[in-house]
Amino acid sequence: MTSLWELANPQLRDLVAYEPGKPIEDVARELGLEPEAVIKLASNENPLGPSPKAIAAMRRAVERVHLYPDGGGYRLREAIAGKFGLEMNQVMLGNGSNEIIEFIGHAFLKPGDEVVVADHAFVVYKLMATLFGARTIEVPDPGFTHDLEAMLDAITPRTREVFVANPNNPTGTLVDQAAIDRFMERVPEDVIVVFDEAYYEFLEQPPDTLKFVREGRNVVVLRTFSKIQGLAGVRIGYGIARPELMEVLQKTRQPFNANLVAQEGALAGLRDDEHQRRTRELNIEGRAWLQGEFDRLGLEYVPSQANFVLVRLGDGDAAFRDLMKRGVIVRAMRGYKLPDWIRVSVGTMEENRRFVAELETWLEQRGSVG
Ligand SMILES: *Cc1c(COP(=O)(O)O)cnc(C)c1O
Repeated sequence: MTSLWELANPQLRDLVAYEPGKPIEDVARELGLEPEAVIKLASNENPLGPSPKAIAAMRRAVERVHLYPDGGGYRLREAIAGKFGLEMNQVMLGNGSNEIIEFIGHAFLKPGDEVVVADHAFVVYKLMATLFGARTIEVPDPGFTHDLEAMLDAITPRTREVFVANPNNPTGTLVDQAAIDRFMERVPEDVIVVFDEAYYEFLEQPPDTLKFVREGRNVVVLRTFSKIQGLAGVRIGYGIARPELMEVLQKTRQPFNANLVAQEGALAGLRDDEHQRRTRELNIEGRAWLQGEFDRLGLEYVPSQANFVLVRLGDGDAAFRDLMKRGVIVRAMRGYKLPDWIRVSVGTMEENRRFVAELETWLEQRGSVG
């Protein structure tokens, strides 16, 4: 019998599955712990949960899930456009902003094309490029920061897309407005530039990339409700681009890609500035505390602009495994070519303290401290 791999698209053989953060329930089951005893600091989720207003809106929405959602996402797109001074035809919804990364691939990539990313960029860009048979060009990122000049130099006539994750996951580093402006002056018009701003709301002085959309450049800005809004589980994100580019992207999506519960939760969450403010403040406090503790323990880390920190522990896989046995889930970084490191999300102060206490015990047992 023919192997299915002979029938499948050849690029799928090279596609490595995305390694998500381990769910609390899995860890509890495997270790025989109560789920309440396990904390997850592995996927940059909001430790406060969703906005209470979003929860109420989603409860109401559940009563109507026998009906298809508004496939055009009218009210949510209108609210997003209103918030940022855009037109509705500059906004599209995704089943998470990750889905829009796939749409951009559907729209512009074919086998042999090239996608330019930073060496330690969010891995989904490469997964999606591979899915469409395109090559990913990974450009060195000294100090874990995107080198936009070097990324420009990596552009060839085959380059269709460039991804700039700002701040980037898993490094937490930001490229500033001046670097972005210089990059946009030189980038060829026929290259689609994607600014992935999943952590935008955590920034104190976010760079302005929407101006490039308004100027009619071939730019897609990605944002999400998964992070500061605490709605990762219902999957909702959005993209912003000029109307002509949106028209192309809209053709690549399924009619009901953004579900009804998610649209209602996102709409209510978007209006809850207070919840976002509390989340931002908790994150600033927790991140500073964690980084201070890493200093105290003599650990190397990458100062972060987001809601997670990349920290070097020598053996990231062992740290991940051992911390998990103690009920603390973090993220190992081997998939990002950083086997020495782990990434930890900023939790509540109680969760942060628990993580550091377990980490310290782990370090002592390995003789790395004292
Ligand atoms: C978390 C994250 C996203 C958001 O993914 P969703 O599909 O919206 O949940 C996108 N980009 C980066 C860099 C992220 O870290």
